Amino acid sequence: MSKLMHFSEFDPIPCESRWFVPYRVADGVTAIYEPYHFQEVISYLIEGNESALLLDSGMGIGNIRSLVEFLTDKPVILVNSHSHFDHVGDNWRFPYAHLLDIPEYVLRLESGNVFQPDSCNRASSSLCLEGPPWFDLNTYHTKPCSVVPIEEGHCFDLGGMKLRVVATPGHTRDSIMLAEDASRLLFTGDTIYPAPLYAYIEGLDMIPIYQATVEKLAAEYSDYTLFCSHNAPVWEGSALKEIDDAFRSVLSGKAAWQYDSKTDGDNILYSFGDFGIVLSREAAVKYGTKFET
Ligand SMILES: [Zn+2]
Repeated sequence: MSKLMHFSEFDPIPCESRWFVPYRVADGVTAIYEPYHFQEVISYLIEGNESALLLDSGMGIGNIRSLVEFLTDKPVILVNSHSHFDHVGDNWRFPYAHLLDIPEYVLRLESGNVFQPDSCNRASSSLCLEGPPWFDLNTYHTKPCSVVPIEEGHCFDLGGMKLRVVATPGHTRDSIMLAEDASRLLFTGDTIYPAPLYAYIEGLDMIPIYQATVEKLAAEYSDYTLFCSHNAPVWEGSALKEIDDAFRSVLSGKAAWQYDSKTDGDNILYSFGDFGIVLSREAAVKYGTKFET
């Protein structure tokens, strides 16, 4: 099984934030962890010699901009791995955010219309920190922000650190990864992380697209180090091959399944050690999972 490194294996960087916990996880790479909400989102501050890049702005519960300004003196550009609310919450504090150039998604992010109002993410049980005094779940929402669209292949040159945009549709259509080819680092967003991967959330037609993305990643990036956007930060790149195999097994109806206890509907979870794949029941039936009648 591919080696997964949890935050307990790193030392936190002392700071005054009551919401974020930053960790130096590689040379020039700081993982900014949000441990007090069940989503356990991770944003990344990646520093070159001249400038820095912030991959995602977190949930918008703590002030990530002031933390980033504490962590680096370099100018910072903000890039979103995708437009889900848990990665774009503090975009509004920055002049603009980069997002993959798909007009419908860019527009939604610009309008702030990316939050699901009845979401379990708003429930009081979603927080593990007793009543953050500055934050009200009842009025929690995503604020509008400016967006500068980017294309596949765009390169951010931070000085001694170049990050290349890789389009990775699957989790969402607007998902990207950032690849640093000299040191073989891959920032994976939500397309790959060590927890259940939701393969159906943008519809049945995204499932084969997700599989094709994973197949391509397994072929090209298995010798990279992965930096994931939820739960645990550092994962050996060979995990990509395990996930590719898992998709094949699930989509050929051969994988063991159980009902997904985390979602109320009858979604189906296929577990594979450090990660899983979740399908809607409709998708599971389509791809050959056998249910008793
Ligand atoms: Zn996420």
